[in-house]
Amino acid sequence: MDHEPPTVTRGPLIVLSGPSGVGKSTVVDRVIASAGLNLRRAVTATTREPRPGERPEVDYHYWTRDRFEAALATGEMLEHAVVHGRDYYGTPRSEVDPYRERGTGVVLVIDVQGAASVRQLYAGDHVSVFLDPPTFEELEARLRGRGEKDESIRRRLDTARRELERRGEFDRHVLNGVLDVAAKDLEAIIREQFVSRDSDKG
Ligand code: ADP
Ligand code: 5GP
Repeated sequence: MDHEPPTVTRGPLIVLSGPSGVGKSTVVDRVIASAGLNLRRAVTATTREPRPGERPEVDYHYWTRDRFEAALATGEMLEHAVVHGRDYYGTPRSEVDPYRERGTGVVLVIDVQGAASVRQLYAGDHVSVFLDPPTFEELEARLRGRGEKDESIRRRLDTARRELERRGEFDRHVLNGVLDVAAKDLEAIIREQFVSRDSDKG
């Protein structure tokens, strides 16, 4: 007698946006480390230089413009955007669907343009979350604390003003004031996604 292979519930897709320096990576890494969920942050690709301490293939895939443009031409990218008016950033398809099919939840830490693309591609099949800074001054302080140069801070704050204007496009909002509170709030949103999928399965 043939046996049906066991069905695996597809892992949820979580899109997290917010201004550069608000703490997206910090909050997501904390949730992944402490929540005990089957969850992974997609490693996206960029043409920008690594910051001190960043690790290739862990924080980003650091690609040349040629490599990035080749990936766009062959349809390797799920979405991409030019961020801060200069560098390409994008999500390789291989970072998302193969993991979800095995039941792993995937978090995409991407900008508001990328979030808008995912909203169309995965309508009804994702949750989008915007991470808010307590104040603009605190955002600038966090960028400085990360050791960004003045020019890079200026560019990121310009982008941040435009990103904050689009926060209303997101399903959910989390304030990153106290890190532990923000991590718990994001964890609760992600947990809901796992629960609703399990109950959909019946
Ligand atoms: P993003 O991924 O949004 O660009 P990061 O996760 O790199 O931001 O965080 C930017 C800086 O802010 C880092 O130095 C990080 O340690 C710090 N940071 C993150 N969350 C908080 C918080 N809740 N309170 C204070 N500093 C924070
Ligand atoms: P940073 O240079 O500070 O690491 O990131 C700049 C911005 O690019 C952040 O808002 C970050 O979320 C976004 N970003 C990172 N990876 C991607 C991606 O694959 N696609 C898009 N659209 N944005 C990304």
